Amino acid sequence: MAVLKECAEAGLDRINVSVFGTTAEELAAVQAPRYASTKLAERKLRALHDTIEAGLRYGVKVSANVVIPDESHIPRVLRIIEEHGRDVVVRMLVNLEDGGASRNAMRALLGDLGAVPERHIVTAGTSDQRTRYRLPDGRTVYTKTIRPVRLPETCSGCRFNNDQDCQEGYYGVRMYRAEGGPFMVGVCIQRMDLAVPLGQFVMSRLCREVQAFRDDEYARLASLDL
Ligand code: SF4
Repeated sequence: MAVLKECAEAGLDRINVSVFGTTAEELAAVQAPRYASTKLAERKLRALHDTIEAGLRYGVKVSANVVIPDESHIPRVLRIIEEHGRDVVVRMLVNLEDGGASRNAMRALLGDLGAVPERHIVTAGTSDQRTRYRLPDGRTVYTKTIRPVRLPETCSGCRFNNDQDCQEGYYGVRMYRAEGGPFMVGVCIQRMDLAVPLGQFVMSRLCREVQAFRDDEYARLASLDL
């Protein structure tokens, strides 16, 4: 948050935050036991509000990711949409570890909201896909799901390459900063051993594989008569 102004000036136009609840009790209830303190939850909620406000102040769009594990979480998610839905783009995510219950809850919630699908967005070369819905009061919400995408070479030799162990699939490149070290590029949150320093990545076969895969998928998707 302290660097958001400088980031916006440098060209940052969007940030994503994860939202778990609207009250400290609600937030604490969905944390792992050792983080389930309402005091800590209050601090996290304040930080979340401050981040959203700072984003809006500096012209940085804010998207809020909300995971729906099952139907018992629908009231919590409805409160989040009510509280944040005007200021930020709410994106509802399926819980990858329990896809069935989570997908049913997502469907039930969209029904409760009276949401009408408007647009389906597939990102070429990654497992990300989203659907935009319009609500009766004119607001929009998104659902975000995963396509079973794998990198042709890198994933074919991976020991996790099955539906059980690799639920996120290939989601695109992510940038990290090693503690006290260089920026690193990773292609998989489960395979941090594949992360390499940025300079090395741009010259690598992995980089060319990522690029060629995206271009091929873009061409294939663009040729579909939808
Ligand atoms: S775990 Fe990562 S590297 Fe392995 S198959 Fe899945 S996306 Fe590919």
